Amino acid sequence: MSKSIKVVQSQRLGALPPYLFARLDELKQEALSRGVDIIDLGIGDPDLPTPAPIIERLYTAAQDPANHRYPSYVGMLAFREAVANWFKQRYHVQLDPKSEIVSLIGSKEGIAHIPLAFVNPGDVVLVPDPGYPVYQSSTIFAGGIPCIMPLLPENNFLPDLDAIDKNMLAKAKLMFINYPNNPTAAIASREYLQSVIDFAYKHNIILCQDAAYNEMGYDDYKPLSILELDGGRDVAIEFHSFSKTFNMTGWRLGFAVGNKDIVQGLGKIKTNVDSGVFQAVQWAGIEALKHYNEFVPTFCKTFASRSAIIIAGLQKLGFQINYSKATFYLWIRVPKGFDSTGFCLHLLDQAGIIVTPGVGFGQYGEGFFRIATTVPQERLYEALERIRKVVL
Ligand SMILES: *Cc1c(COP(=O)(O)O)cnc(C)c1O
Repeated sequence: MSKSIKVVQSQRLGALPPYLFARLDELKQEALSRGVDIIDLGIGDPDLPTPAPIIERLYTAAQDPANHRYPSYVGMLAFREAVANWFKQRYHVQLDPKSEIVSLIGSKEGIAHIPLAFVNPGDVVLVPDPGYPVYQSSTIFAGGIPCIMPLLPENNFLPDLDAIDKNMLAKAKLMFINYPNNPTAAIASREYLQSVIDFAYKHNIILCQDAAYNEMGYDDYKPLSILELDGGRDVAIEFHSFSKTFNMTGWRLGFAVGNKDIVQGLGKIKTNVDSGVFQAVQWAGIEALKHYNEFVPTFCKTFASRSAIIIAGLQKLGFQINYSKATFYLWIRVPKGFDSTGFCLHLLDQAGIIVTPGVGFGQYGEGFFRIATTVPQERLYEALERIRKVVL
């Protein structure tokens, strides 16, 4: 007879919002097993391969026994220096590699850990909705209280700072923003970002800018770093990622930069939970940054031309699209008569197309769906043709 203990999950796991994408995943697997030719526009994961020189560098670094040992918690100095050099060229900001940069096992890791460094139980964290779900779950894990900042179309999907509840604001310790934005593809102007910095300073809030899409600007649009602006360094930490920039989602490499007390607080958490990034991966990252100007504009061109195909095709069919000059996402209103989950299930069922229901990113995502242009052109044309049949 087998006996087992009674396994009860912690309250913090119970407090997480439901994972709405799970059902869609199941339905996708079901359709695949029936042999349906699925076009997956659901996941924000580039289909393009990592450039060969980056892979070569991993290969040579992996052969060096010096890289087989525990890495440093905060990243090799050579990696942090490479980040500082790149940051200077890209954003004209001089960072101190020793105190203002920490390596991350993907930027998600840093975002998931930052509340543990600064949020006490009962403290408030300002989180955008719709948004990357990790802002909320990491807040909950730290015992913090998420305070939703709705991203509304009438505000160009930027939080309305004046609308934040005053009682919540008084208890706010941290604030997450993410521009260029997932899932809405919105961008933030210099003026807007400056107003957020001033707001954070006034209310003594640590500003966490998720810059995962900062290198995915199109048509000469170059997203700003929060650290370029007046006072940015006094209030902010910024999370950067190799994932979308260099088609390296599987490699797990990112870094955080910013105010040294904030960066070092995060570093202290990391010292206690992980042991850093495999050094061979850091060497590959150094190689990637070295070739930034060579690789990145080509990728951006590819995603920009894919976006243009979808925009033109869907507008012809009467869809209302919020698109911008950044990210590989399109944020689109669902047709009348559907809610966002209903429309996505309909597309899967009738057209074998996977898109993401807006409500999966929070209640204010209701009424929208997200397309990620992470399939080749021919498949986008095929998807448009199938959608045309479904909506007509
Ligand atoms: C993809 C993504 C990340 C995480 O990227 P990593 O692979 O962990 O570096 C962070 N924020 C947003 C908004 C993302 O879409």
